[in-house]
Amino acid sequence: MEKTIAGSPRDDCVSLRHSRPTERRDAVAPREPACLAVIRGDGIGPEIVGEALGVLDAVAEKFGHKFIYKEAPMGGNAIDRFGVPLPEESLKTCLASDGVLLGAVGGPKWDAQPPENRPEKGLLKLRNGLSVYANLRPAKMFPVLSAACPLRKDIAERGIDFIVVRELVGGVYFGEHRTETRDGERTATDVMSYSEHEIRRIAHVAFRTAEGRRKKVTSVDKANVLTTSRLWREIVEDVAKDYPDVELNHMYVDNASMQIVKEPGQFDVIVTENMFGDILSDEASQITGSIGLIPSASLGEPGRPGLYEPIHGSAPDIAGQDKANPIGTILAAAFLLRYSLGMETEAQAIEKAVSVVLDEGWRTGDIMEEGKQLVGCREMGRLIRERV
Ligand code: NAD
Repeated sequence: MEKTIAGSPRDDCVSLRHSRPTERRDAVAPREPACLAVIRGDGIGPEIVGEALGVLDAVAEKFGHKFIYKEAPMGGNAIDRFGVPLPEESLKTCLASDGVLLGAVGGPKWDAQPPENRPEKGLLKLRNGLSVYANLRPAKMFPVLSAACPLRKDIAERGIDFIVVRELVGGVYFGEHRTETRDGERTATDVMSYSEHEIRRIAHVAFRTAEGRRKKVTSVDKANVLTTSRLWREIVEDVAKDYPDVELNHMYVDNASMQIVKEPGQFDVIVTENMFGDILSDEASQITGSIGLIPSASLGEPGRPGLYEPIHGSAPDIAGQDKANPIGTILAAAFLLRYSLGMETEAQAIEKAVSVVLDEGWRTGDIMEEGKQLVGCREMGRLIRERV
């Protein structure tokens, strides 16, 4: 269950995590040794996570760090071995860690499981357990992959590099849902509600993220119609006062969905509520090419472990064939270094290595183009490792 890299095993991950200074992301001090929970998952999960760990090993060696990896079984494989998708022991391991790296879970083998015992339930339980309320998903196009961008060539060539910060545990998805019969017909109701503290904390995540980037936040709402959006706007404007160097603008969600395909280069950080974020982050991921390239981070209160994963699923159709693209998971590991361990230089070293490998023309099948070099998951991992 435990593997130690460039250091000795440590029994207690909790004491370190609690001693971290936390109020602001840029104040997070690098942790030594960092304890990372590793969920390999199902399908291509073990392949892509294996490559991401290899890249973390290369970072440990180059920068003189110690990472302790603790395995936390989750998903279909956990159902097979323990009868449940998220064993208590796995949750404890994740809660005691400095950050959780996840491949993906699920697959046809477990489709017949009762709804409460499906692999995805493990993921929901984990997100709840970690109390993550902010989901960060980048929309970044590698210039050499601009041919895979479905947008017009001149738009793609102007560059796409923004990040969607989505509120993850509030709004209409978590409001009351009911169906009743009124005047002889069924009426369905979903309640959308937001409290000040929920808006305030996600706004802080967005502004802190922008501080480390191009210092611009676009808050997306529907304030011309929704009361929750009017409160959202008011609180975001209040939080903005704490970040005088970050520019804030507001945009209605319908306009934002158009602007993402019309002029994506105008965005740096988009912050929005749960349902708008669900839709816009999917739109944003599509304009950059393959889903195999995109990481995500789910964050809770500063100082608590974040959850880092690629945005795709377990791809059972290519599992075990050395065909998966490990880049989304490798970039998720870079996010873990940046957001949970305060290792910005190390995160950038991984991102640079990925860029270099792509610039050199190496491609997995999902992003293959004529004239480029086709490689498998393992070789892609090795190439990136070598260039860290
Ligand atoms: P998927 O994302 O697994 O696959 C969709 C398509 O994209 C497939 O053709 C797949 O081969 C391809 N693909 C995905 N990741 C790739 C990669 N890294 N490299 C190359 N190609 C890649 O979506 P799906 O097929 O709808 O779902 C499969 C299983 O994954 C289901 O059981 C689903 O519930 C689960 N799932 C899990 C997560 C998660 O763990 N967070 C997220 C989504 C889906």
